[in-house]
Amino acid sequence: MIEALVLAQCPCSGGDPGAGPLLIFGLVACAVWLVHRIGGKDGVSRMSKVWKIALVVVLVAVVAIVIINKQMGSSPGTDAAKSAAQVSPPAAGLPRLLDLGSTTCIPCKMMAPILEELKKEYAGRLQVEFVDVMANPDAGRSYQISLIPTQIFFDASGKERFRHEGFFAKEDILAKWKQLGVDLTAAAPASAAPTFSRMEPARADDRPKTAICHMCDGDINPETLVVVKSAKGDVRLCGPHCYFIMYSCLTEDKTDFEKKVSVADWAGGAAVPATAAVFLYGAEEKTGRPTLKAFALREAAEKERQAAGGNILAWNVLQEKELATRCGFCDRAVYPEDAALVRADGLFTWGCCSHCALGVAARTGKDIEVHERDRLTGEMIVVKTASGSVASLEPKTAVAWFGLRKAPDGKFVSAGCFHQGFFVSEENLKKWVEQNPTATGKAVTIAQALADKMNLSPQQIQKACKIGECAPK
Ligand SMILES: [Zn+2]
Ligand SMILES: [Zn+2]
Repeated sequence: MIEALVLAQCPCSGGDPGAGPLLIFGLVACAVWLVHRIGGKDGVSRMSKVWKIALVVVLVAVVAIVIINKQMGSSPGTDAAKSAAQVSPPAAGLPRLLDLGSTTCIPCKMMAPILEELKKEYAGRLQVEFVDVMANPDAGRSYQISLIPTQIFFDASGKERFRHEGFFAKEDILAKWKQLGVDLTAAAPASAAPTFSRMEPARADDRPKTAICHMCDGDINPETLVVVKSAKGDVRLCGPHCYFIMYSCLTEDKTDFEKKVSVADWAGGAAVPATAAVFLYGAEEKTGRPTLKAFALREAAEKERQAAGGNILAWNVLQEKELATRCGFCDRAVYPEDAALVRADGLFTWGCCSHCALGVAARTGKDIEVHERDRLTGEMIVVKTASGSVASLEPKTAVAWFGLRKAPDGKFVSAGCFHQGFFVSEENLKKWVEQNPTATGKAVTIAQALADKMNLSPQQIQKACKIGECAPK
């Protein structure tokens, strides 16, 4: 019975038969033999026989437990070994150094103080792990090493980037990380994660539903209203741009979709079929951001053009322009004036929000540079990534707001791209939250926001913002 109990707890019982079960089996066999010997002696009272049997049984149990504890304690890589085949993802989007060795081989022993130093000096920037392959032979097998010690370098997404066999000096390890694009010495130590959050709005959103844009949650100006007829009723949007953002995320068949769309006539407010309207396409003087006014009559548009400037475009031309620039992560239509600028591999793209901008690193697998403005003050924040982690951050105090909202089932989910942002400091973030009483979410480090994207599977990235969640409901 003890054997069965002990084996059930044994960490080896689920995998290849290791040394543990054999040892325990041997011990139990010895115990049975001992008990037999004791029982066979003459002159031993029945009572003391029972005591001796109990003593041996207890001894066997204690020895077995010690062996099991020793095995579990000396194999910090047990979990790593279990998941090694699929490469375990890093805990917090950190690059990882895995050393597979033993506690007895000489070069392995020389690695131990180096690993300890790296662990301490680069805490929060590098995960350092040691696996004793003598105590945990499964790990050695699953990483297919041929000699010990072997050091394996994983990037923040969990991908193996390099391996080295034999003793590896500390400066050589650091130089190798740098060569792989991870400059551990330059990166600032991870500052304490911000703790600020507001999960309940300071004030309930008391606007009537018909006055709220389906896409951006902004106020609807009746002069720029766009209405999309859907099976579930009218979808109201604050203007043509929010319409095209929604359109770019739709997963359904879009044939003749524009027939469902009407726009408000700037000159009188009446609803006009979108395809019959003309659009005065101008630009805000300060930012260059496009301005759009729809007209039922060309003469009215012409009159406004003479007063305000711009060009008159038909619906199909407007659509082409609006859909030409996309988010490099989620593929939504975007105005560069609203977006974060992203440089990836020498090419430029945009992030429709700060978090999508970081997501370009996950979607492309490239090191990227993100330029995004503080949502409160417009100050610039620059993030550079290397191998899926933050390599540099300017200013170092910058933090991200992860906008969340309560789903009907009570769980908090992302509030969408319009509700995310970067701030140069947690102070600015708090001020912005104060100014936006209906905003809910939490402050996170930019490293965490990046890690959240890096941990997405290719399938999840493919589906980003194309899961129909922006479709008319
Ligand atoms: Zn809107
Ligand atoms: Zn996006």
